[in-house]
Amino acid sequence: MVTDTLVPALSDIDVEEAAHELEGAPAIDILRWARACIPRFAVTSSFGADAATLLSLVAEVDADLPVLFLDTGFHFAESLAYRHLLANRLGLRNVIDVRPDLTVAQQADRYGPAMYLRDPDVCCALRKVAPLDEALEGYDGWATGVRRSQTPDRASTPVVATADRDGRTLLKVAPLAAWTAADVAGHRRLHDLPPHPLANRGFGSIGCAPCTRPTAPGEDDRAGRWAGRAKTECGIHLESTTSA
Ligand code: SF4
Repeated sequence: MVTDTLVPALSDIDVEEAAHELEGAPAIDILRWARACIPRFAVTSSFGADAATLLSLVAEVDADLPVLFLDTGFHFAESLAYRHLLANRLGLRNVIDVRPDLTVAQQADRYGPAMYLRDPDVCCALRKVAPLDEALEGYDGWATGVRRSQTPDRASTPVVATADRDGRTLLKVAPLAAWTAADVAGHRRLHDLPPHPLANRGFGSIGCAPCTRPTAPGEDDRAGRWAGRAKTECGIHLESTTSA
């Protein structure tokens, strides 16, 4: 595994070995490793219900790290306010709003209104996946707040993996992969992190307003995303990955 303080070339990293060695390491050490080893490294955040955890670690490691926020145009006003509140509170100096090529109105003009009802996969492809691919063109790897305990699809999330994005191979890092919901809540309490304004109103997982509803007691946190549909992921975490 590369641990030199000099930033090496991406090809110098033995991904399989890194994934093995970092499994079980503290999340902040995983983040420090990524910052040191991945030449052009960013973090993505939805500024949703659990975002404060990873972002508090980012602030501790390097408040100038680029934090990419996918501003789909469909976020709750509370989420947009939280994006600024959290960035200010944590002292994050490089939050970048990533927007789709088309505004919501332009998308409706071109493809018809309420695409999120008619074909949410296409809507997510236009407003999340393509903008993220474009934003990641400037980076060699990125970290996300994905956790194994969130959904069956995420249950085998590696701590470090290669990820194919739009024909390029990047490194994808998941410092919180092994964290449970209780770990996240404990970290939030310990560090007195501000909650998302909607978290206290029953929203366990928060994405675009048209595709998010509050969850009932006992329901899975992500049950409120695309409720009533087979869809469980927007697509930004569905790229092909390889690790140990
Ligand atoms: S979550 Fe819903 S509104 Fe947001 S991009 Fe996907 S389909 Fe569109």
